Amino acid sequence: VALVVADIALIGLAVMGQNLILNMNDHGFVVCAYNRTVSKVHDFLRNEAKSTKVIGAESLEDMVSKLKSPRRVILLVKAGQAVDDFIDKLVPLLQPGDIIIDGGNSEYRDTTRRCQSLKAKGLLFVGSGVSGGEEGARHGPSLMPGGHKEAWPHIKDIFQSIAAKVGTGESCCDWVGDEGAGHFVKMVHNGIEYGDMQCYFCSELDSFLIEITANILKYRDTDGTHLLPKIRDSAGQKGTGKWTAISALEYGIPVTLIGEAVFARCLSSLKDERVLASKSLKGPQGAKFTGDKDQFLEDIRKALYASKIISYAQGFMLLRQAAKEFGWSLNYGAIALMWRGGCIIRSVFLGKIKEAFDRDSELQNLLLDGFFTNAVQDCQASWRRVVSTGVELGIPMPSFTTALSFYDGYRHAMLPANLLQAQRDYFGAHTYELLSNPGHFIHTNWTGHG
Ligand code: NAP
Repeated sequence: VALVVADIALIGLAVMGQNLILNMNDHGFVVCAYNRTVSKVHDFLRNEAKSTKVIGAESLEDMVSKLKSPRRVILLVKAGQAVDDFIDKLVPLLQPGDIIIDGGNSEYRDTTRRCQSLKAKGLLFVGSGVSGGEEGARHGPSLMPGGHKEAWPHIKDIFQSIAAKVGTGESCCDWVGDEGAGHFVKMVHNGIEYGDMQCYFCSELDSFLIEITANILKYRDTDGTHLLPKIRDSAGQKGTGKWTAISALEYGIPVTLIGEAVFARCLSSLKDERVLASKSLKGPQGAKFTGDKDQFLEDIRKALYASKIISYAQGFMLLRQAAKEFGWSLNYGAIALMWRGGCIIRSVFLGKIKEAFDRDSELQNLLLDGFFTNAVQDCQASWRRVVSTGVELGIPMPSFTTALSFYDGYRHAMLPANLLQAQRDYFGAHTYELLSNPGHFIHTNWTGHG
């Protein structure tokens, strides 16, 4: 009879799983490790997990028999079919009230589906976003758990202990919401990461991405020249930015900066076509920057800050709409805090977002919080100078320009969409509303008289 000793099991001994196990071990939890290819369990115990309290399992049955009740099992395997396969194998081995946690990058709809099917079997399911890569998993990731809330009291201690800490020790992990809410929030986080990366030049936002960008710009190759210009300018993507943009279209929320960041990567990937186009498509002739360079650098810093505010405002708009669609009750301040440390988009700036939601938990839009209203106002003149200079000089600035267009659209009580409505009514009799009579739809015979 196996000894029931482990606080939690983790399946999936690739880079994320191994590091998360060692992190849990550091915090005093006894972890049972398992992997589809069982030889990796032996390798792990012999090497990385040597002289730790980590134990291994030879089979899922063996693993389950070593777990304290309620049993807690984290999956950190390839997203998709592998998760469903493990769930199917675990179900007959577990008891009602046991908890399966999926820490992979699963699609939020899959998580919602798994929640529903496991609830019917009496099991609790949690889909948790995990951000921060290998380093985060080892020393403190940002964790975004959602799903069956009854599971939270049983995993809270482990999750909040191993997550990144900020300020006076606040943990970058809190309960996100029902069903796939945790993975939805992780998806938006990744989308924001796309946007941030597209925006960066330089800044003092005290952000991880800015710090690494500065280091990359300075880095020299073995021959003493800068390495960056030698790297092929064709950006890859794994798809979470695209998912965010698709969700934005699906729920009708103008998350333009993330969308533009995804398209900018797509455009970069058309390398051969761009090389061809560069031979015949000309930009402005003879245009040259003649202004004060130091002043312009300061303008760029402000344009970046304003664009970043727009991107986060849009990300939270999408979260708000998803909460409405799915009936999730999301704690926006807690989400900002979860992103404050540990993850790729970590930055002091997120503390300001947390404060905005602390001031008003029902805040409709980040831009309507006094701090952010003033911050954008303060950057506005610089932002416009940067965008207009870039346009004049023919420099592509997809995220700055789309952010500014959004800002100008959002701050107008009246937009020319009335003309769209008239056109739609003209050619398709789609009807329109008069400002003076909302809710009442009428049609006009536009080719008739009067
Ligand atoms: P991964 O390369 O995504 O997955 C490898 C693990 O999945 C191995 O344990 C492998 O087992 C198992 N696996 C793959 N296909 C399987 C199948 N059909 N059935 C059973 N097991 C299968 O590993 P990772 O990079 O550590 O990532 C784990 C999860 O975390 C993923 O969902 C990933 O998207 C997410 N994530 C990764 C990062 C990162 O920085 N890498 C950051 C955040 C989140 P075998 O050893 O038997 O092949």
